[in-house]
Amino acid sequence: MSSGSKRSRQEKPQEGLSHGNGGEDSFLDQTLRPNVWNDYIGQKNTKENLRILLTAASERKHPPEHLLFYGPPGLGKTTLAHLIAKEIRAQMKVTSGPAIEKVGDLASILTNLSPGDILFVDEIHRLNRAIEEVLYPAMESGVLDIIIGKGPSARTIQLELPAFTLIAATTRIAMISSPLRSRFSGGMFRLEFYTEEEIEKIVLRSAKILGIEIEKEAAKEIAKRSRFTPRTANYLLKRCRDFAQVHTHTKAPRVGVGVKKSRLTKLLVEEALALLGVDEVGLSPADRSLLTVLIEKFGGGPVGLNTLAAALSEEEATIEEVHEPYLLQLGFLERTPRGRAATSKAYGHLKNAKSGKLI
Ligand code: ADP
Repeated sequence: MSSGSKRSRQEKPQEGLSHGNGGEDSFLDQTLRPNVWNDYIGQKNTKENLRILLTAASERKHPPEHLLFYGPPGLGKTTLAHLIAKEIRAQMKVTSGPAIEKVGDLASILTNLSPGDILFVDEIHRLNRAIEEVLYPAMESGVLDIIIGKGPSARTIQLELPAFTLIAATTRIAMISSPLRSRFSGGMFRLEFYTEEEIEKIVLRSAKILGIEIEKEAAKEIAKRSRFTPRTANYLLKRCRDFAQVHTHTKAPRVGVGVKKSRLTKLLVEEALALLGVDEVGLSPADRSLLTVLIEKFGGGPVGLNTLAAALSEEEATIEEVHEPYLLQLGFLERTPRGRAATSKAYGHLKNAKSGKLI
């Protein structure tokens, strides 16, 4: 199990802005992860539905039914699973779709669960079909069908499993087969992008935990450029803190050995984010190059995802999971039956970026 959870962290799709520092990201995730419901900002609808589901299950003295959370990376799916485990005082075992390679891996995870445990499977869309088949009866009737032997002498034995709750997360709901979807009897919850006000609250809370002194206007500026995503907000906050700390014109006194403690102002945030290439609406250099290629090489589209991915030397999955959701949300990109197309808003944004009106 522990090796499974390690792999799940490493293979998690990287956020568009935090290339190459997965270790630091997951450390940051853990430090800043809310562990009481009140600190979990936003997602009002999902929270309310979960409250009802958990209350009803606890009144019936039964583990909650299986749940599926979906939405782009960094919106709080894993955090919700941790909060649920804490709420019902259950032990949570963590693994991920790609970490479960063989039917035997799943069998060993399931048979090692204790009654009432939560099994969290991240990136469940990457589970292969043969393994899915084993999961169905486990989810539905709490049994594990194991085939022993091969050919005509093969026989099936059935193992009874302890009652457990499966909580799964995915960034690609369309890749989950309908038989698997239908087994999430507790419901499927789509996590929404956050509002700027919600992200601002998250930034202020994270700043407090990390001991960063921050002006309200600076938190607002980070929120504006955070792709409506908490993980990105936390990442940008930390980069701004680093920038402020080493920035030469900080006149604040040194605190401790060699560490300057400075107040994050709006100006410092703007400078730090300009250096990272994060523009006024939160687009990273990679997002802008996607739009530039789409417009300059393909006349604005529509162009197929595989052609676009080849032109960008990027993986299709990264485009679909990391870049596209935010560009669609901003109205910069359209998905048509013939492929991806840039909107007039995207043209306008890139024009401003080129003329230096942005960043
Ligand atoms: P996902 O599993 O969807 O990729 P996570 O649950 O790992 O996202 O969330 C990433 C980080 O974002 C968490 O560590 C937490 O600090 C922050 N976060 C996510 N959702 C919220 C929220 N609703 N309120 C406050 N912080 C949040």
